[in-house]
Amino acid sequence: MIEPASYSDFIRDRVRKDIDEGTYSGRVQTRFPPEPNGYLHIGHAKAMTVDFGTAEQFGGVCNLRLDDTNPDTEEYEYFNSILEDISWLGYSPASVLHASDYFGQLYDWAEYLIERGLAYVDDSDTETISAQRGGFGKPGVNSEYRDRTPAENLELFRGMRAGEYPDGARVLRAKIDMNHENMALRDPVMYRIRHSHHFRTGDQWCIYPTYDWAHGQSDAIERVTHSICTLEFDTHRPLYDWYLKQLPLPAEKPQQIEFARLELTHTVTSKRRLAKLVADGTVDGWDDPRMPTLRGLRRRGYPAAALRAFCTEIGTTRTNSRQNIEALESYVRRELNTTAQRRMAVLHPLRLVIDNWPADDSGNPVTEYFEVNNSPDNPDHGTRQVAFSGELFIEADDFAEVPPPKFFRLSIGREVRLRNAYLVTATSVDKDAAGKVTAVHATYDPTTRGGDAPDGRKVKSTMHWVSAPHALDITAVLYDRLFTAPVPGEATGEALDDVNPNSRELLTGCKAEASLAELSPAQVVQFERIGYFAADTVQPTVFHRTVGLRDEWAAIQRRQG
Ligand code: ATP
Ligand code: MG
Repeated sequence: MIEPASYSDFIRDRVRKDIDEGTYSGRVQTRFPPEPNGYLHIGHAKAMTVDFGTAEQFGGVCNLRLDDTNPDTEEYEYFNSILEDISWLGYSPASVLHASDYFGQLYDWAEYLIERGLAYVDDSDTETISAQRGGFGKPGVNSEYRDRTPAENLELFRGMRAGEYPDGARVLRAKIDMNHENMALRDPVMYRIRHSHHFRTGDQWCIYPTYDWAHGQSDAIERVTHSICTLEFDTHRPLYDWYLKQLPLPAEKPQQIEFARLELTHTVTSKRRLAKLVADGTVDGWDDPRMPTLRGLRRRGYPAAALRAFCTEIGTTRTNSRQNIEALESYVRRELNTTAQRRMAVLHPLRLVIDNWPADDSGNPVTEYFEVNNSPDNPDHGTRQVAFSGELFIEADDFAEVPPPKFFRLSIGREVRLRNAYLVTATSVDKDAAGKVTAVHATYDPTTRGGDAPDGRKVKSTMHWVSAPHALDITAVLYDRLFTAPVPGEATGEALDDVNPNSRELLTGCKAEASLAELSPAQVVQFERIGYFAADTVQPTVFHRTVGLRDEWAAIQRRQG
């Protein structure tokens, strides 16, 4: 159980009311219905917190139902990734079901409607059907095939099913009202002919139901109580209800409830656009850490708990809006702040040589080990040994030869703290022929072990460091927004015009403490003073920046008052 009992929104209020009134004898059953034609993205995470979350809160069940009615685009690869991603997010479907399991029942029900004069076979081509549909304020035109007799329709429909006609030759349409003010009710298509191999049903079928014809009926078969979907299906609800009303079903019917899709600034949540990014090579694949797919976010180091909290706590409404991506990052940071261990890594290394560091009997510099807490405030994270020696790496911008005003980090003659280690004072620099500083020399105060001076003197700065002889070479991958514009495509109408050409920066030759070699794949740690980084799942010395440390969301909220 991961759902607090206290969440409230218009959907949960409706469910609560149905329970109180005994509408479904107190039963709550939802479904999460992805089409296996792509990878799940953060929008689907939102849908899952609504579908699974609502059922969980009221002790109901939520099934996974693959909406696999389109053989041309669906594959096992997507199906498997969907199962994995759902479980990663922390949900487990009560059952895994498929719309394709109901193809037989849907077919029988189609004949049932034909027999009652409520569906007909139309030989018109797609253009004619679409032109005859009319528009808002423009009545539709009846198809010349609309008045076929049930017997004739039945024969033709059976012929469609038997594979007697090529793709596109005929469709089955519901016979409702070509002048209905709601376009969805102007004789919608129920079946189209597709001589395509379906990833589950193989070549068993060459006619496939449309979403509208399959969805509500699948809900009814499974005894779904609340069929929650996104707002674009709002105008389809009368059709959803119409089908259920015509069929020989129990009185207790599922109800469709719509909510606004989740949209985020600086990214897109449409499978079609995400597929384009992959196909173009803009990103490396569906699991590129810049992608808003669940696999991308996971590789980036986003904790599932942060995604769930964000998706739930932003609320569920019927008003379309776009959430700030900084708000999501703030949830990620908040979660990682308690779960991620601390480590030290230097992204832009500058050599720091401690000239008074002792040597052993053979003249080699001594190595000293410090026991360091893996978390400043959570003892459960334990401690680790960090090597220190006379040659270290510090961040290049933690040293200034000519310190600007208010620069309190290292400069000649200034004493600073090397975190968990000693106080050091810079004394001189080495430079290359071009005058660039290649190393900083310093002395350390042996009485300050652990980082505090016995005489109580203060330093203004504490810096992270890595011992040079013990350092691990790592590559840090820094990420920026995938789209430069907050609303991708707002200016030109095409989101992909706003792709950020500099969304990824590879820093090689970074130096890290040796313990980083012991992380597990995908483990996220905080590089002290820099940000959160996730170990790559394949290359153990590559680290993806999950988020920086600065909470930009807090600043945005302050600005907005
Ligand atoms: P896309 O437009 O990316 O193809 P879709 O709606 O076609 O998305 P489906 O696989 O059909 O994707 O969606 C499965 C479920 O997830 C549906 O209930 C759908 O409404 C919901 N969903 C998809 N995108 C979002 C989103 N951005 N916010 C909330 N729910 C979403
Ligand atoms: Mg869809």
